[in-house]
Amino acid sequence: MSVKVLTPTLAHSERPSWLTKLPRNSSSRSVTTTTTKIDISSSPSCITTFPVRVHAEEPQVTLGALAARKTWLNIVSSGKDRELRSHSAGPSGNFFAITWPYGKTERVKLATEIIETLWMYDDFAEDIPYSKAVEVHAKLSDSLETDNIPEQPDRKMLIMGLFHGFAERLLRMDEEGATRVIDALKLYLKTYDSKKGSFQAIQEYTEFRIVNVGFWIMEAFMQWTLGICLTSEEQKLCHEFCLSGGRSMGLTNDLYSWNVERNDPADRQWNAVPIIMRQYDLSEEDAVVYLKGLIVQHEQKTREIGVEVLRQCNGSNKMAKYVDAMGLMLGGNGFWSSNCPRYNNN
Ligand SMILES: [Mg+2]
Repeated sequence: MSVKVLTPTLAHSERPSWLTKLPRNSSSRSVTTTTTKIDISSSPSCITTFPVRVHAEEPQVTLGALAARKTWLNIVSSGKDRELRSHSAGPSGNFFAITWPYGKTERVKLATEIIETLWMYDDFAEDIPYSKAVEVHAKLSDSLETDNIPEQPDRKMLIMGLFHGFAERLLRMDEEGATRVIDALKLYLKTYDSKKGSFQAIQEYTEFRIVNVGFWIMEAFMQWTLGICLTSEEQKLCHEFCLSGGRSMGLTNDLYSWNVERNDPADRQWNAVPIIMRQYDLSEEDAVVYLKGLIVQHEQKTREIGVEVLRQCNGSNKMAKYVDAMGLMLGGNGFWSSNCPRYNNN
């Protein structure tokens, strides 16, 4: 029986430190997309322990976000809805160019257009009463079925038509993996807002937040943009790795978005800080320090499980690429959140 040797996914000097001790062969994989390394210390509040890189075609990725904003403005008519918040833009590049730095450009661009739209939809949905919002999310989820043609033409129907069009474009660009992306979008819409504000313990909240922060959407797009599609066995093998990554992603979002969410009414907050304050009877400042510790702990755990995943899959190239990509996605999420205008405008 031959033993496969791990082929590094990045030049050795660039490999994340948690991978450098694993076996490798002498020739490095040729990296088809070049990326630029970002110096994490350029953002003093950034605490991620993962590396950060930006996509070589970042301006193209930004065009995806701009296209989404333009289309959205054509749909919404009222003054308030037209005042769009900042979404994926950032001083070192677009969020998706930083979270999927090695993704195929056209795919990262389309994924950016879709999630930018989802973000604007989130803001729009925040103004709808809760019971009504659940109904709208369910309809939007249905519109992701490509054989389910939405009716025309009121505003909600136009939004549904938009998502229906996204599903068709995803499938056209690359069918393999697109279904998983669409399923992740549906799962997100299905669980959106449920259980908000009802958590007593940070541990329970963190598990729920994995889906709610959009981790599975990000993970499915991560695979799709890279052009890899994990088999169900591979997906099972890295399930714990994913969950740990999802915890890091959710809590990281809470740390940096607390700045803007702290003034929202409690029933509109998706954030770990008030839960930690209540559970451990801590001041806001101490709860934030506690949250930083939790993030580092979950990142560390993710790296440990990542090493174990690679050991178990006998140095599969595909899995090495996947584990690398996860680290870069988490590092990118942390770095972007620490300095993006969306959370750092004051
Ligand atoms: Mg948040």
